[in-house]
Amino acid sequence: RKWVYQYEEGRADMKGLLGGKGANLAQMWNIGLPVPPGFIITTEACKAYWSDPEGLMDSIWPQVRDAVSKLEERTGKAFGGAENPLLVSVRSGAPVSMPGMMDTILNLGLNEATVDALAAASGDQRFAWDSYRRFIQMFSDVVLGVDIGEFEFLLSRVKGGQGCSYDHELTHQSLRKLVESYLRLLDSKGIKFPTDPWEQLRLAVEAVFKSWNTPRAVTYRSIHQIPDDLGTAVCVVSMVYGNLGDDCGTGVCFTRDPSTGERRLYGEFLVNAQGEDVVAGIRTPRPISELKSTMPEVYEELVKLTELLERHYRDMQDIEFTVERGRLYLLQTRNGKRTAKAAVRVAVEMVREGLITPEEAVRRVTPDQVEQLLHPQLDPTLKFDVLAKGLPASPGAAVGKVVFDADEAERMGKGGEDVILVRPETTPDDIHGLFAARGILTSHGGMTSHAAVVARGLGKPCVSGCEALDIDLARGVMRVGQREIRKYEVITIDGSRGLVALGALPLVQPSFSDDFRELLDYADGLSRLEVWANGDTPEDAQRARSFGARGIGLCRTEHMFMQADRLPVMQEMVASVTKEERIEALSKLKVMQKEDFVGIFRAMEGLPVTVRLLDPPLHEFLPKVPEMRERLEALEAEGKGDGPEARKIRVLIQRAESLKEANPMLGFRGCRLGIIYPEIYEMQVEAIFEATVELMSQGVQVYPDIMMPLVGTKEEMRRLREMVDSKAKEFEARLGGEIPYMVGTMIEVPRAALVAGELAEDAEFFSFGTNDLTQTTFGYSRDDAEGKFLAEYVRIHVLPDNPFHVLDRSGVGRLMELAVREGRQTRPDIQIGICGEHGGNPKSIAFCHKLGLKYVSCSPFRVPVARLAAAHAAL
Ligand code: PEP
Ligand code: MG
Repeated sequence: RKWVYQYEEGRADMKGLLGGKGANLAQMWNIGLPVPPGFIITTEACKAYWSDPEGLMDSIWPQVRDAVSKLEERTGKAFGGAENPLLVSVRSGAPVSMPGMMDTILNLGLNEATVDALAAASGDQRFAWDSYRRFIQMFSDVVLGVDIGEFEFLLSRVKGGQGCSYDHELTHQSLRKLVESYLRLLDSKGIKFPTDPWEQLRLAVEAVFKSWNTPRAVTYRSIHQIPDDLGTAVCVVSMVYGNLGDDCGTGVCFTRDPSTGERRLYGEFLVNAQGEDVVAGIRTPRPISELKSTMPEVYEELVKLTELLERHYRDMQDIEFTVERGRLYLLQTRNGKRTAKAAVRVAVEMVREGLITPEEAVRRVTPDQVEQLLHPQLDPTLKFDVLAKGLPASPGAAVGKVVFDADEAERMGKGGEDVILVRPETTPDDIHGLFAARGILTSHGGMTSHAAVVARGLGKPCVSGCEALDIDLARGVMRVGQREIRKYEVITIDGSRGLVALGALPLVQPSFSDDFRELLDYADGLSRLEVWANGDTPEDAQRARSFGARGIGLCRTEHMFMQADRLPVMQEMVASVTKEERIEALSKLKVMQKEDFVGIFRAMEGLPVTVRLLDPPLHEFLPKVPEMRERLEALEAEGKGDGPEARKIRVLIQRAESLKEANPMLGFRGCRLGIIYPEIYEMQVEAIFEATVELMSQGVQVYPDIMMPLVGTKEEMRRLREMVDSKAKEFEARLGGEIPYMVGTMIEVPRAALVAGELAEDAEFFSFGTNDLTQTTFGYSRDDAEGKFLAEYVRIHVLPDNPFHVLDRSGVGRLMELAVREGRQTRPDIQIGICGEHGGNPKSIAFCHKLGLKYVSCSPFRVPVARLAAAHAAL
């Protein structure tokens, strides 16, 4: 069996057998790059070692001996030789990179005799004894399992004795004494340090095999989901030295700047040093550009070789090198880690340079990275004290002063101050405060709570359901355990991770660069799913369009009624007792609603706009009863108990009491409103068609799709369809032409999915409202569940994910599958999309792709993430 490979026998694509490091060394050697000679023991050997250590070592050993003799020929040095001795490094190299997890031994082959030979060959006593000292230390640590601290203690004692503070100031005499004391230390422990280089090599190889199963390596693999049975290869490489004088050095470089992606050689080096010195931070490395003046020829060669490597691997490389007496050696190359910003720039520029295809560029950037680009973020490596943890409701980070009141947030925000609006939860009444705040923090509510949905729509960071916060609105403080945070104190929230911290942490700013746009264009070319956006205002629509949305998948009309100038009219409508009163209020609302539609349709010219008719229970438009009572008492105290305001409040209180339901989310809402009070939906449909006719007469292309919420029966759908069609006829007559509209329904309750075949007789499109569909399928309240038990369910693995965040494929997904199949049976060309929050979640998008939906619709700020995710789903 072949256990040992020469570089000539390896290639970059043999990582499984030779490990990442070994395969790349072989590849570099074979394309003629200056790599120190060496050989590789396979991962197969490592695997066989576990079941029969002795037998395996005996069977590989003749091959190792052969390989060492070849190495001797190649280097002109002798392993264990009394003249010009060959020293090697023994390194682990797994098929998957596990940085710092496994062991390395340098300078192997040294003993009492070869150390003198090394001194003679290099002409440098100090260097030879320092190498020997390092070798004993490393070997004892890795192979013999001796605590490194004991050596450090001896080292510091010798430094003290010589009166110096740095290792490299030690004379060769001191180093020699140090080696003697190291060996005495081992003796005193009953350990005989192996002097035979062959024995050293054998023990070192075994140590690398064993290091695969150290607890830290096992833990690392389980965290990163790396299989335990890959094994590690062992690279045995002849040593080259960067510490033989001022024409030597060592360094690390990237072929492009790993933080910006700019194409330039980027990195650091140290003159007269070994790799360890760079890591140990004893001396500060110099920027690689200085190598140009200190070693111009080496620099030029380095530039040439790194460019060659990048072209060869067609990706940004992270390269280790050493210069020994003016000769450059490459010790390692691998694909370099990079920031999100750099990932985008490198991918797009490599397409322009003809190195990779657009498809490869798209593959190399993850939706998570795109997410990072769209919002200010906390530096992910930043260490800070977490004050409290909540739900990551809307991504990005924000810094600001704590404010507990929406009006105050608005005042301060308009005055140019950064504020974080902190509330137990938010309601539509707080919208102006959310708008003015940098970020939102709530102690209650889940991922689809009002605060969360609105924050995502606005692209603002939000941490919701932060139950550890005890908010005392009356006193203007919040408590977390013993800590009290007052109004106006500065905090930082991280909505990507659901964290809260005290003080102002530094933020990294977002960028929507041309490169990024180009990458998303490549993505669109690869995906089958379209990406639409949820938006309720002309500004939302414009933003959605500029981020590349191909339509509006959900315009929630109720949001239009929440604005300050409409709310009183809306309340008038809700408070109406007779139909006549209601119609009067509705006719005022229609004027405003029409203007909204004109704005949105115009912004989306040429693209479909899906308008959903009124959905929430009517009581949501009324102020809270206790607040109204308080106001009434105040009026009475002022002697205005019979005035018009007091009279109005009494009516509203009465109406609110009569609208009260035990379970409003399962109550009088959605299309049930439109069936019982037809005039409400008729007004909305008229507003839509009036806006359409006005714009079409001006030659603007408008595609209004009218969508019914919470439909559960065929009869609901039939009546609503009939109503829209008859209105359409009126307006088509007025226009003197056809209006390209569609009527469809959301699928938001299990029954709708189960009878989708029947609904499709009248519905020309379906849109999955997976927020409600998840709520009604699981029977979990979307407003309460997450903060109460759902987060804990996920933590203790009762559920794999929060189903309001990642679509539940086996339950909710199954209903969707059924609805798609049966809807298409009835109406083969039925248009099907999704507009629940899942439409912006990459895992859920992949599922929608599988179901063959036409589009996913998400908040405008998530459109870029969704575009990339849709392409990844198709790759
Ligand atoms: C849904 O239920 O998924 C939906 C999009 O509607 P809303 O969130 O407005 O209830
Ligand atoms: Mg809904």
